[in-house]
Amino acid sequence: MSQNLTLEEIQNFKGKYPKQIWSLFFSEMWERFCFYGMRGMLVFFMIDQLHFEEAKSNLQYGAIQAFVYAFTFVGGLFADKILGFRKSLFWGGLMMIIGSMILAYEPHTYFFEGIAFTVIGTGFFKPNISTMVGYLYKHGDTRTDAGFSLFYAGINLGALIGGYLCIAIGKGQLLENLIAVEHRWNVAFGLAAVVMVISLINFYFTKRSLGPIGLQPVQHLANGETKPLERWKEIAVYAGTLLMVPIIIQMVNNTDYTDYFMYTIGPATLIYLFYEMSKVNSSERKKLYAALVFILFSILFWGIYEQAGGSLSIFAAKNLDTSLVGLNLDPNGVNNSGGAFFIILLAPLFGLLWIWMAKKKIEPNTVVKFGLGFILLGVGYYALFYTRLFANADGVTSLNFFTFALLIITFGELCLSPIGLSIMTKLSTPNLQGMMMGMWFLASAYGQYAAGIIGANMSEAKSGSSNYESLIAYTTGYKELALYAVIAGVVLIIISPMIRKLMQEVK
Ligand code: GLN
Repeated sequence: MSQNLTLEEIQNFKGKYPKQIWSLFFSEMWERFCFYGMRGMLVFFMIDQLHFEEAKSNLQYGAIQAFVYAFTFVGGLFADKILGFRKSLFWGGLMMIIGSMILAYEPHTYFFEGIAFTVIGTGFFKPNISTMVGYLYKHGDTRTDAGFSLFYAGINLGALIGGYLCIAIGKGQLLENLIAVEHRWNVAFGLAAVVMVISLINFYFTKRSLGPIGLQPVQHLANGETKPLERWKEIAVYAGTLLMVPIIIQMVNNTDYTDYFMYTIGPATLIYLFYEMSKVNSSERKKLYAALVFILFSILFWGIYEQAGGSLSIFAAKNLDTSLVGLNLDPNGVNNSGGAFFIILLAPLFGLLWIWMAKKKIEPNTVVKFGLGFILLGVGYYALFYTRLFANADGVTSLNFFTFALLIITFGELCLSPIGLSIMTKLSTPNLQGMMMGMWFLASAYGQYAAGIIGANMSEAKSGSSNYESLIAYTTGYKELALYAVIAGVVLIIISPMIRKLMQEVK
């Protein structure tokens, strides 16, 4: 592939997928390996190794997750304005490597230091690689959603492998004879650093084929000419990021700050978005409003969906048997990686389904797909409710049926999450691409935050009760969430003509 490809040449690709998507697929896969590897280790490590209380660990975990996704907004914003997507990605990747190396070196002593670097790093990496996928497609190319579905499979391949390997090594279930007990966590965190290096090396070789995609923005002069941005601005971003590290260390350490942060960042972001909206023309503004509707609805989606990391992991530990289609498996393992497994299996099929439906002119539009995503999420949560039908007197129910519920939830995720990435790139103006992608993930931050609160309420409802009562309390909670999801889905489908008007020609 030549170094001098133009955007036109890239976007006029033949076949189902642009070639470059594979490189972005692998870079993101390794980054998600690192992210989900960490995610799988955090709560366990805090309880088992740092001897935090369970409740404190859960809150701390929620705070870390909320910060990670909240920083994607900052990362997206600076990519648009100063760094460009490529430099942001390198800078983010580098921060993630430093964070993982700190954790690999001395996880017990420098836990929050390492976490702070990875939080900021993910913010610079995650939204910007997704935005670059969008640039591989011309506006209106019907293959875009399929591309994002494929990219989403890469995300989940990393999530599946990393999510399993890191914690298994840390706990000593894997490679136990090769690694001395006292070094297991160092190796587990170190693995995250190694895969991030692979991700960046892979991206380095991809750059050649990306033509102008992701280059640093330029200054537009009054006479119509352009000139490169001043170098000090770029250096200021790097320096500013480093200055943020000690602040983030304090903020994740003290979860009260998370509340203040969450109360502030959302409204501040909205005000900034409205300011940016005042500078665009009315057609562009309408599209940004449509994007905002998707973003706001997605908060509810993730708030329900992300029970997976919280209340559902407690449910899995207490209320599920260990038999899945005849195999003896750990129910927490199934809860953690089952969704990713189904996505890898189903994402390519969904991609092909959308293409096939588009050819037959029966493809549901994006708003309806979103609505279906909510309805399927709701049906999945109803299935979680019905796990109580298979429970024995000890409150232990069927892992098979639970996994069936995960499958339905995954159908819902596939109707919403990859399509959300895709629609952000389609509805944003060129100068706001990174920021809007960041806002999409900021909704996930709020979802994670809400999920923690919902989960905590559910666990309060059942405290001090028997295993069976706990099953009843949790499943009653899931039934309620199911209803909210279905209502949201129906509302979205009903208001879809209005949102489509805002979206204009964008599908
Ligand atoms: N599972 C997806 C990912 O890791 C989506 C996460 C999210 O937006 N909450 O990219």
